[in-house]
Amino acid sequence: MTTVAARLKPGREKAVLLRHPWVFEGALARVPKEAPDGALLALQAADGTLLGHGLLNRQSQITLRLVAFGAAPVDESTLWQDLLARAVARRGAQRPFACRLVNAEADGLPGLIVDVYGPWVVMQCLCLGMDQRKQHLAEVLAGLVGARGVLERSDSEVRKKEGLGESNGVLWGETPPDLVELLEAGPRGTPVKLLADLHRGHKTGFYLDQARNRALCGQLFEGREVLNLFCYSGGFAVHALAAGATRVLNVDASAEALALARKNLEANGLPVNPEDFLQADIFKLLRGFRKEGRRFDAILLDPPKMAFSAAQVQTAARAYKDLNLQALQLLRPGGLLVSFSCSGRVDPDLFQKILFGAALDARVDARVIHRLNAGPDHPLLLSFPEGDYLKGLVLQVEPLAPEAPL
Ligand code: SAH
Repeated sequence: MTTVAARLKPGREKAVLLRHPWVFEGALARVPKEAPDGALLALQAADGTLLGHGLLNRQSQITLRLVAFGAAPVDESTLWQDLLARAVARRGAQRPFACRLVNAEADGLPGLIVDVYGPWVVMQCLCLGMDQRKQHLAEVLAGLVGARGVLERSDSEVRKKEGLGESNGVLWGETPPDLVELLEAGPRGTPVKLLADLHRGHKTGFYLDQARNRALCGQLFEGREVLNLFCYSGGFAVHALAAGATRVLNVDASAEALALARKNLEANGLPVNPEDFLQADIFKLLRGFRKEGRRFDAILLDPPKMAFSAAQVQTAARAYKDLNLQALQLLRPGGLLVSFSCSGRVDPDLFQKILFGAALDARVDARVIHRLNAGPDHPLLLSFPEGDYLKGLVLQVEPLAPEAPL
């Protein structure tokens, strides 16, 4: 039981009553001196009503991250075990071989990401309170999933906002191999193999959030010549070729990513043509392609996050528009554009408007045939809309008929 409590300013309890897990510095009237950063601390309304409990960090603008709501006492000796067990249970007994087990705030565990790749667990601690408890969390997780090893990949930039540097390494058990092979449902139920670099790959080693979208794109790209932009380790390329795409041209700025993409094709017995792997800056490349008159039947556009703050939304919107405009101009009539944004600040409505602007400038009719988001293992908690980051639209694209003379 905590005996001290942080107290809100008068009139600032609304967000907490709506079960939003973040309490900002500006909403707090008082934080007790005796509570160290990282501690689990009670939160009171201005009138002293107990509203919940959260992890404290005075160094962060998000000063308290709530892990329990209401007046019930919280026992830290069982809290983490309970929250983790619930997150694992939410995925069900039939969860895929590789999937997200803990989606931070959306699973009631703010600042904690956990992905599982078969017997290997990868953790990211994005706030101080979770960072301080990582050893305990790793042991609990290992027990819950019967892991061989738990690896930490806390190398995200957002840790700076919590006063934390990078921290990577094995927290429990054995070291995972350099590359872990995972299986995803591919065309006609046949699994495809994908290699994930848990130690050095993006995020926790792989883009698990796109699993369902990779399979859908595979189906859509059958018989098509595909341009795979920002291809990373070629997950979409493997699904597309396995499902019968005639060719996939993969482009990325990273030679390392392209090398892994080649390995992924090889692992599936798919033909590896060196010309299909292009290291380039995509923003520059697309203009050149247009001048050369290059054309494709389908283009996949999955750029990295471009808006990290509200102030960056305008610039990001221009970059998305430019990319999508360039891509639309490279499509053959009847072509497909699959366009993603993983910038949470660019909401689905704005993203759709950006694509509309690009379609108008490209002089095409574009019809949305699928709306995409992260898979069911990346749930969105309705009381935490900030967690909604990945969105994608599949557009079927036709050139406008030439304008009739007046
Ligand atoms: N579609 C991928 C994930 C893309 S991640 C998948 O599903 O696995 C974003 C990728 O964009 C990274 O691999 C990064 O190397 C690449 N990238 C970032 N900026 C780039 C640029 N200007 N030109 C080309 N590639 C870029």
